[in-house]
Amino acid sequence: MSFVLHGIGVASGIAIGRAQLISHATLEVAHYRIAAARIPEEVARFVAAVKGVQKELEGLHTSMTRGDAPAEFGAFLDVHWLILNDPTLAEVPKEIIASQHCNAEWALTQQMNVLIEQFDQIEDAYLRERKADVVQVVERVLKLLLGKPGEVRPVNPEQKTILVAYDLSPADVIQLKRHHFAGFLTDLGGITSHTAIVARSLGIPSVVALHDARNLIRENETLIVDGGNHLVIVNPDRAVLQEYRLRQHELELEKQKLKRLKFTPATTLDGQHVELHANIELPQDLEEVLDNGATGIGLFRSEFLFLNRQGLPSEEEQFEAYRAVAEGMAGLPVVIRSFDLGADKHKDGLGGLTRMAQNPALGLRAVRFCLAEPRLFQTQLRAILRASHYGKVKILLPMLCNAQEMEQSLVAIEQAKDSLREQNLPFDPEVEVGGMIEVPAAVMAMSMFTRRLDFLSIGTNDLIQYTLAVDRADDAVSHLYDPLHPAIIKLLAQAIRGAHKAGVPISVCGEMAGDLAFTRLLLGLGLRGFSMHPSHLLTVKQRVLTANVPTLEELVNRLLKTDDSLRIQVLMEKINAG
Ligand code: PEP
Ligand code: MG
Repeated sequence: MSFVLHGIGVASGIAIGRAQLISHATLEVAHYRIAAARIPEEVARFVAAVKGVQKELEGLHTSMTRGDAPAEFGAFLDVHWLILNDPTLAEVPKEIIASQHCNAEWALTQQMNVLIEQFDQIEDAYLRERKADVVQVVERVLKLLLGKPGEVRPVNPEQKTILVAYDLSPADVIQLKRHHFAGFLTDLGGITSHTAIVARSLGIPSVVALHDARNLIRENETLIVDGGNHLVIVNPDRAVLQEYRLRQHELELEKQKLKRLKFTPATTLDGQHVELHANIELPQDLEEVLDNGATGIGLFRSEFLFLNRQGLPSEEEQFEAYRAVAEGMAGLPVVIRSFDLGADKHKDGLGGLTRMAQNPALGLRAVRFCLAEPRLFQTQLRAILRASHYGKVKILLPMLCNAQEMEQSLVAIEQAKDSLREQNLPFDPEVEVGGMIEVPAAVMAMSMFTRRLDFLSIGTNDLIQYTLAVDRADDAVSHLYDPLHPAIIKLLAQAIRGAHKAGVPISVCGEMAGDLAFTRLLLGLGLRGFSMHPSHLLTVKQRVLTANVPTLEELVNRLLKTDDSLRIQVLMEKINAG
C-alpha cells in the first residue's frame, strides 16, 4: 500500500531507495566474530552486564520508594525487571554467542529483533506496545556492554538504501559520513538540532520529525524522500516513481549548472563584496568545501572530533586535524571553534561533567564547559595555535555570555602561547580570537565583546532558541521556532550595527546563513559574511549575485519598524522578489 508521511525536511533533494530500519540500540552495536576459546569469556561479559542492569534497576527502585515518585514508576521498573530476567533475554543470547561465535552485543540485538517481531504479531494493542520496554531494557544492557561504539552501514551496498530510525544523536549521524546512504528519516528531531545540521552536512536528502515512520515503514520497502517538500512516499506506484526520477534528474542538472559559479566572486549587482565561507565538522569535509568554491572555513565544529571514540583526542591528534584543514585551505581563513560540548552533544568518559543536567541547554555547555575543564581546553588551544603556523587559523569561543568568560578564555589562550614558547614550538602570535553571539545577552551588551575581540560570528540557531525559549531539537515546539519573529530581526540588526560601529567584522554561521529565504534579508541588514554548509554555497551565491543592496536596505528598514507578522510576511515577499 502506498502512503505519504509528513515531517521536517532538513536536507533538500530527492532520494529513492529501499528502507533499512535501525533501532537506536543496533546503531551502536559492533558486529564481530569471536574465537571458540573466547566464548566463555564473552558469555561472562554478557552475564556481568545483565547483573549490572539488575543492580541499576534495584537502585532506581530504592530511590523511588524513598522519594515521592508516582506508583506507576515502580510498576514500570517491575516490568523492566521481569523482561530482563526472562530467559528469552537473559539466557538465549548466551546460546547465540556459543552457537554463532558472535559478540555479546550482536547476540543480544539479534534476540531483541526476534522478540520485537513476536510483539508485532500480538493483537492486543497494550501488549504490543510493551515492545518499547524490551528495546529500553536491551539498551540498558548494551550501554554496559559497549566498550567501543559500532557503526551502521548499508546492509546491501549494491542498492540505494534509506536509513529509517526512531532517533539519531549527532554522534550517530557523524558516523554515517563514512558510509553511503541515499537518505535518512527519523521520528524525532527539530530543524536546527545538531542532528539535523550534521544530516545536512552529509549532503543527503533527509526528513526528521516523522513521528511514526519507524513503526509504519517495513524493511526493504521502496521509499521516496523529498527533503524540499518535507515528505516521504512509502511504496510509490509506478507513475509517481517515474515522476520523481525525472525531478531527481532535473535537480542533478541544476546542480551541475551551478558549478559554473564556483570561481565567480560573490558580488551584488551594486558591487558589494560578500564572503561566503563553509561550516565543517571533520577534516574530511574539506573536499566538498573546495568543490563549492568557499573562500574560507567560517566554523569548524571541533567538538565532533571528541565524539564516537574512546578517550579524548590527544594534542597531537587534534593538531594533525587542524593542520590538515589549515593547509588544505592554503592561506584562506579557517575559524576553529573551541569545543562546544554539552546540551545535545555529549561525550562519555569526562567524569561527572557531562552528566545530564535538568536543563542541559542552559547548563555547562560550550565556553562554560571549556573553562570548567582547563586541561582539556589547554590541550585544544595548544593544538589550534600550533596549527596556526600552517595557515590563517582563527580561534572562536562559543556561546559567550559575559565578560569574565571572555577574559578567562583570553588568559587561557595566552597561557597556551607561553607554554608553546617555552618549548620553542611555532605558532602565529597574531592569531585572531573571536566570539559567538548566540545568547540575547551578548547582543544587548555587544560593546563588552567588540572592545576585546577581533571578530564576531552570530550563531542564529542558538540565538533563536534562547531568545524565543524554544528548544531547537524538540519538534513539538518547532512551529514556534521562527527566524522572522520581530525580536530576532531586531536582534540581528542590533548585532550587525553594533559590530560595524566598532569596526569589528561580523558574520552569521547559523543555519539562517545557508537558507535562501534569508539571504537578502541578511544582506539588507548589512551582513557581508556568511558561513554555511558547503552544499548551500553556490545557491546562496546565485542569490547574492542578483541582489541590489540599496533596494534591500530600504525594504529592511521598513521591516524593522513593524512587529506585525502579516506585514513582515508581505515585506519579506518583496525582499525576496526578483
Ligand atoms: C548556532 O548556534 O547557530 C551555531 C552555529 O552553533 P551550533 O549550531 O553548533 O550550536
Ligand atoms: Mg550554537
